[in-house]
Amino acid sequence: MDGTAPTPSRVPPATPGAAALDASALLKSDAGELPFLNSSNSLSDSTPIRIQTTCPATLPPNARWREVRTEQQTIGFVLQRSKRRSIGFLITDDGLRVTAPNWVTLSQIDEAVVEKARWILNKLRDWHARQSRLALAQTLWQQDGEMPYLGKRIRIALGSGRSAAFMTGDMNDPQDGDTLHLPLPANADDARVRDAAQAWLQGRAGAWFGVRLSHFLELSGLRIKRWRLSGAATRWGSCTSDGNIMLNWRLIHFSPSIIDYVIVHELAHLREMNHSQDFWAEVGNILPGFEDAKNLLKHHDPGSLPAF
Ligand SMILES: [Zn+2]
Repeated sequence: MDGTAPTPSRVPPATPGAAALDASALLKSDAGELPFLNSSNSLSDSTPIRIQTTCPATLPPNARWREVRTEQQTIGFVLQRSKRRSIGFLITDDGLRVTAPNWVTLSQIDEAVVEKARWILNKLRDWHARQSRLALAQTLWQQDGEMPYLGKRIRIALGSGRSAAFMTGDMNDPQDGDTLHLPLPANADDARVRDAAQAWLQGRAGAWFGVRLSHFLELSGLRIKRWRLSGAATRWGSCTSDGNIMLNWRLIHFSPSIIDYVIVHELAHLREMNHSQDFWAEVGNILPGFEDAKNLLKHHDPGSLPAF
């Protein structure tokens, strides 16, 4: 559970016949653990998240913006005419770019996009996940550094002269750009800034998870023996059959809906110690509409979070 390298693994698909087998296997080893999942697993997902495709601020020369409705969603793309002989698809920093010979009509291009929609959306989804991983991992432990907190990006400030950390704005409802003042001098080195930020985040994780756990325990009528924060490198959470719940404090970086999903996932294991259809039904009973949060979490692996 901790100390080992992250091994992205997939939650077993809910196949009715395999439930009993899963349960015994899970009980023996890592009962009820919710592993980190990497983005490549999202490709086989049945309820993918919508991908925003927006027109870039500047278009390349001879290019135009075009949108096509597909079965899954509307896909916007940059269309560029070229001398090439066939229609080409490319994922760039601005999203999808389609290059097509001059003689191909717009409706033929649209048709090609519709035909390739699944592939395109998978590629775009991977690209978005990569971008958000990069953005998250680039925390600078210094004045004006930014870090994710409850799904928003908050700013680090030093030199407040106070003896305790405090945040401008609402700690329970942060907004992008809110500032966390750490009780350190302006010239504190990176390691001290990182440690102080981590201590504050862990304190917030303890408070936030505790409140949400109580809420869902009351809602579900379930009982646990105890819960604790963990800093495991490989798990978001775990639950043992005798009611010990562990939640990774780094979840505090994510939006409240993702944290709720992990908590409910672990609580649901108190009723179903497996990932069978019954288990997912239980999750859905406690947290209707959990699928979006589940999918979002799949796009985050340990590399997506600030390095502590
Ligand atoms: Zn699980």
